[in-house]
Parts: sequence; C-alpha cells; structure tokens
Amino acid sequence: MIEANLQKIERTLRARLENYRKMNTEGNSLMIPATECRDHIDHVSAGLLNNVQVLLQTQGHELVEEIEAALSRLKSGQYGECLRCEEDIGLERLEANPAAALCFKCQSLFEKRYC
Ligand SMILES: [Zn+2]
Repeated sequence: MIEANLQKIERTLRARLENYRKMNTEGNSLMIPATECRDHIDHVSAGLLNNVQVLLQTQGHELVEEIEAALSRLKSGQYGECLRCEEDIGLERLEANPAAALCFKCQSLFEKRYC
C-alpha cells in the first residue's frame, strides 16, 4: 500500500479514536442518577435512557478496541491484510472503514454466520 495512503488512514484512525474516547468519557456524565427521579415515571424513563447510554458506551469501547488493533497492525506492517484469509483487504474498503480487519468476502461470510 502506498505510504501516502497509510499516513492518511492513520490520521483518520487517530481522529476517530480520539472522538470515540471523548464520547465514552462524556457518556458517563449523561447518566441520570436515581436521586434525580421524582416519581415512578421518572425512574422508568431514567432506566431506559441509562440503558441506551450503557449500550452506546459498550459499542464505543468495541470501536476503540477495533481502532487500536488497526493502529497496531499499521505499526507492525500487517495493515491491509485480511486476518482470516491473508488476502489484501483493498484500499477502497479501508478508506470506507479504516479499522476493517477482514476483506469483503470474509466479512460477508462472518456476517452470514453470526449476525
Ligand atoms: Zn479474507
């Protein structure tokens, strides 16, 4: 892969990593404490909103891990190689999803099997 492409991808990965980390940190301040609930409806609403917040934070942590893994592959020189079949993932796919660890074919097989 061309060095200029790798540098652009690394900048994109680092910017996304910073954004997700910031969102995960800010997410904690969005949680509604039970002490702020005045009645049963407030408790139910706060519970639902807090559950959504936890789901978003879980997803955010997974995205952070995916990006950190991609940055690690960049550093080791394995970036752009499918972790399953070891074929080239392809620049177009990596530009769309710089943290992609699987080629389109392997990702499709994975999603058919597990999603
Ligand atoms: Zn593959």
